[in-house]
Amino acid sequence: MNKEKAVIVFSGGQDSTTCLFWAKERFAEVEAVTFDYNQRHSLEIECAKNIAKELGVKHHILDMSLLNQLAPNALTRNDIEVKDGEEGELPSTFVPGRNLLFLSFAGVLAKQINAKHIVTGVCETDFSGYPDCRDIFIKSLNVTLNLSMDHPFVIHTPLMWLNKTATWALADELGAFDFVREKTLTCYNGIIADGCGECPSCKLRKNGLDEYLKNRKEFSR
Ligand code: ZN
Repeated sequence: MNKEKAVIVFSGGQDSTTCLFWAKERFAEVEAVTFDYNQRHSLEIECAKNIAKELGVKHHILDMSLLNQLAPNALTRNDIEVKDGEEGELPSTFVPGRNLLFLSFAGVLAKQINAKHIVTGVCETDFSGYPDCRDIFIKSLNVTLNLSMDHPFVIHTPLMWLNKTATWALADELGAFDFVREKTLTCYNGIIADGCGECPSCKLRKNGLDEYLKNRKEFSR
């Protein structure tokens, strides 16, 4: 087992790209895995590919189109609108158990390539109702993965307690602020960098960015 090798669950978005920089600084070897579940914008996969290539990271793209069969949703079907969940409800982009599946497959890959570490950009702070993004779930899954494969995985969640503003600060700290701002895709409408500005994902990203830019000097102290 290679103690210095990590697998990162990577979508090409702001969060996982920031985590990729974090992982590259921490581990001698990092490989990225992107799950292809027929995202509405195949641009997301292209974007992830380009970033991995530019950063010299080996990139695995795994077919997860079965997710579509399990849970038709706004990310995968054009006839469903992306919108925020009503109070107490999940947003319409919700795919139940998506992180459970992604992290389990990442674990299998990590075992195959003999990596100890698994990195994911999940976050409990901007909690949008995904139960499998919670810290307690990650800790539980970590134990389960270790038992299932008899392998001492360590799951890392550098963003778990950060809000979007702090995530921008982390990118900046890692020297990746401009890279993350210009090359990542988080927009539900498939527009790279600052995005469409209208969708829930763009709004969240922009609010965090504006807040960070307002206080950038404070953060860099
Ligand atoms: Zn957008």
